[in-house]
Amino acid sequence: MNIHEYQAKALLKSYGCPVSNGRAVLKADEAKSAAGELDGPLWVVKAQIHAGGRGKGKFKEAEAGEKGGVRLAKSVEEAEAMAKQMLGRTLVTHQTGPAGKQVNRIYIEDGSDISRELYLALLVDRATSRVSFVVSTEGGMDIEEVAASTPEKIMSFSVDPATGLSDFHGRRVAFALGLTGVAVKQCVALVKNLYRAFIEKDMEMLEINPLIVMTDGNLKVLDAKLGFDNNALYRQPDIMALRDETEEDPKELEASKFDLNYIALDGEIGCMVNGAGLAMATMDIIKLYGAEPANFLDVGGGATKEKVTEAFKIITSDPNVKGILVNIFGGIMRCDIIAEGVLAAVKEVGLQVPLVVRLEGTNVELGKEIIANSGLNVIAADNLADGAQKIVKAVKG
Ligand code: GDP
Ligand code: MG
Repeated sequence: MNIHEYQAKALLKSYGCPVSNGRAVLKADEAKSAAGELDGPLWVVKAQIHAGGRGKGKFKEAEAGEKGGVRLAKSVEEAEAMAKQMLGRTLVTHQTGPAGKQVNRIYIEDGSDISRELYLALLVDRATSRVSFVVSTEGGMDIEEVAASTPEKIMSFSVDPATGLSDFHGRRVAFALGLTGVAVKQCVALVKNLYRAFIEKDMEMLEINPLIVMTDGNLKVLDAKLGFDNNALYRQPDIMALRDETEEDPKELEASKFDLNYIALDGEIGCMVNGAGLAMATMDIIKLYGAEPANFLDVGGGATKEKVTEAFKIITSDPNVKGILVNIFGGIMRCDIIAEGVLAAVKEVGLQVPLVVRLEGTNVELGKEIIANSGLNVIAADNLADGAQKIVKAVKG
């Protein structure tokens, strides 16, 4: 789960990290008083969406020369006008995809005088099973681009969980970032605080881009992006409370309510599968036969008829879906339950696109019989390859 920049900064502030003063604004008429509570003489007006690259992003239907989702204002009135101009509009950045994201919240911040922009991130390195620091002197830019064009400017090292974090790590970060004077000490403290926040709050990603050295030599966290481990949210109620459901894919949101593992994709074939491995194999084989999956969906081992019905509804609500492939291996899950779930769902939501069903395993004969006797236009498949070929043919002709 991700949270907004202003929420991330409040959290990091509670861990002793240096951030600017700011006010979150949800309605246009709050903008003036919010900006007025900050000192100036520079205000930063920032669109709050769960995506980076806002500064370089573009609003839909932007006027010629209109700035992106991070703007500098020289007065309270200007900050107010900017906030009003951004609220409710759709911002497109390299991370939002072409559809962009609607801006429903604005963060107005006290502006900082920047001397250098740096990059500092913590993440879970799966290769070493450790928390890693990733640092670069090339902050403020797209880090993927730095990694591609000047990889030598990115340094990374991990923390041994047995010994934990020590000042040595902080000095190493400071050295890699070329810090001097008071900033070195501040960096050692910052690294400690970030690491503590990362561990205590079950984060999977913490990215500060940019971390800045101000003209007065002090360090500050100017942008912050935090991602949390969904599987640990049950023990992080304060983080859970920061969830902004409007930032999530409505289909994924609906799926999470029914405990379905669903991820929306760009293709045309909706998949309903049990087991993550089988779901991956199903996606692969759809691609092999020349089409693209519209989603990843694992209904789980112990799915009920209700769960299958919900899964089916979510798939059919996606206008990109031109055909559906149900591929179920009945182990714990019985094929007749799946068949009943599919029929219940079809009766409830109707069937506008071709449906191929491949069942195998426990009660397979009964399951096939239920579908065959349903009178519905369902194409039966004998195995995975057969199923994939049939649905691709039905969709692509
Ligand atoms: P992002 O574009 O979504 O990554 O948003 P950021 O918060 O990183 O802001 C983008 C850029 O705006 C930064 O890299 C800075 O160059 C600039 N910026 C943000 N805040 C300030 C500020 O307080 N003062 C100045 N001078 N520039 C800022
Ligand atoms: Mg940034």
